[in-house]
Amino acid sequence: MVSCSNVGRTVSPVASNVVGIVAEDVERAKAAADFVQVAGEHIGLKRVGRQWQGLCPFHAEKTPSFYLNPELKLYHCWGCDAKGDIITFVRELRQLDFAEAVEWLAGKFGVPLRYDDVKGGQDRQRKALLTEAMERAVEWYHLRLLQSPDAGRARSYLRDRGYDRAAVEQFRLGWAPGGDDWGEMCKALKLPRDVLEDTGLGFVNKGGRQQDSFRGRVLFPIFDSAGKPVAFGGRVLPGGDGPKYKNSSETKLYKKSSTLYALNWAKTEASSRGEVIVCEGYTDVIAFFRCGMPRAVATCGTALADEHFRTLKNFARRIVLAYDADSAGQSAAQRFYEWEQRYEVDIVVASLPPGSDPGELGRTDPEALRSAVDRARPFLEFRLDRLLAAADLTTAEGRARTAESALAAISEHPNELVRDQYVMRVADRCRLDPDRLRDRLRGGDQSGRPLAARPPSAQRRARRSGAEVEALRLAVHRPELVADRLEEVLFADEVNLAAFRALASAETLTDAIETARPEARDLLFALAVEEAESDADDVVCLLVAAAGRRELEALQREARQALSPTDYAATIAWLKVTLEQLWESGTSKGACTTLVAWLSRSAEEQGQLADEAATGTMYGETA
Ligand SMILES: [Zn+2]
Repeated sequence: MVSCSNVGRTVSPVASNVVGIVAEDVERAKAAADFVQVAGEHIGLKRVGRQWQGLCPFHAEKTPSFYLNPELKLYHCWGCDAKGDIITFVRELRQLDFAEAVEWLAGKFGVPLRYDDVKGGQDRQRKALLTEAMERAVEWYHLRLLQSPDAGRARSYLRDRGYDRAAVEQFRLGWAPGGDDWGEMCKALKLPRDVLEDTGLGFVNKGGRQQDSFRGRVLFPIFDSAGKPVAFGGRVLPGGDGPKYKNSSETKLYKKSSTLYALNWAKTEASSRGEVIVCEGYTDVIAFFRCGMPRAVATCGTALADEHFRTLKNFARRIVLAYDADSAGQSAAQRFYEWEQRYEVDIVVASLPPGSDPGELGRTDPEALRSAVDRARPFLEFRLDRLLAAADLTTAEGRARTAESALAAISEHPNELVRDQYVMRVADRCRLDPDRLRDRLRGGDQSGRPLAARPPSAQRRARRSGAEVEALRLAVHRPELVADRLEEVLFADEVNLAAFRALASAETLTDAIETARPEARDLLFALAVEEAESDADDVVCLLVAAAGRRELEALQREARQALSPTDYAATIAWLKVTLEQLWESGTSKGACTTLVAWLSRSAEEQGQLADEAATGTMYGETA
């Protein structure tokens, strides 16, 4: 029988041998860290009992639903369901990996770290080595552009595009020579073959000679959000060979789907404004910076994807797409709506003049670029405006056709109130009765896939009530009060039972959270940032009473179906009396203990009976 006695108060880290930092040191860093101080750097916090409450840094909200528990170093948000420990918090907010987050905390709170020489440590050393090689390459290409006679064409190309020296230096632009020597960078940097290949900077050709990956191109170094160089984008000069743009291939340092060009420079302005501009190219990004909007990033040769939003939402809630009008129009609307819901961001489209791109516009008319961002429209509005602008509204047939296509676009939007406003607008433009359009939309809706709305936090919170949950709350916060009084048999709800089992079989709350199945894990996270204020005696009593009543009803049912109901009479009578004793102050405690023992025994016996029955069937089948 599992008891709750080993529910602990301390929180241990997740297995950290994988990251190379000695596990004990991870724990010490975590113990030394002040969670309120760490979170307080990003959000305002208010003390509520033993917990702290504030506006969630992971989703946009006006009323605080973010809670953190300073002792357990856990957080949970009722609004977006973000949750984790202090290391997760630092990772999410600062875009760090596990080891980097531990290092950040350790540095901040003065805890020296030791590394063990397992694979994790080697991986990190390797990464550091590759990063250093990348840094040297960035510098070498950059000086080449600034100083070398062979970079003259590249310099004048950049000047023609409006890039002065300050811009070239700010973005660390470089020049990869394209002469007859195919390995100038390799020769200068003298990198070992494995480093050359693992960074994507070069390769060894069939003749056994090291060769540069980038040749005859202006280079845009790509940095990760922390400012470490991870890759290059290279643009060929007009009239040069090969594709216009060439990017580094993916390496240990560089993953296209999660890297955003210029995020390292844009993140400060983006988070202070709550707005980030997403472009298609490096030169577009630079144009925004040059026009006084240093909050632009670009995807690196891939389409916007899930991972990009996971990163972006940590910096800004308003995402302005500054694509040229055609590519924005061709984007998959439903994915945008899904992202808006999942990451609670607003996606709007900058109103660029037809046929222009931000890089070009920034140079010729900076004011127009600024106003394109100011006048950015929601994605659906942008699509409808384009559709209406291109439509023939002079004939009845043309207006009907336009209304049909507009409804198709509107029907993809998951929010009914939003849909309705656009229906009215379309009705007005197409001179049709809005109610007729609404009917059409509803008809079309049945085939369309409605996107499930997020359940309001109030609903989620309501699910977590009742004596079972209260008992779990006590087991989390005041285990000494309930540790040896709770048993599995007292939990009727499956999720509550799973949470209890996880707590009872784990050394610490963190271990319990890690081993619990998903729903139980969510529940434990939520409980960790709540208060346990109920009286333990009352809670246990309520729990025992409920379990006793369940057993009583089961016995009464069995008795009705039994051949000799009188066999049950004595037990039923005893149970009824004992249940009543629960509520009398003199007998309550004794009745409680007796009932828990009896319930557990009878659950065990039933378990055995069930096991025997199962075994019997098996033998019966094989016989
Ligand atoms: Zn949240």
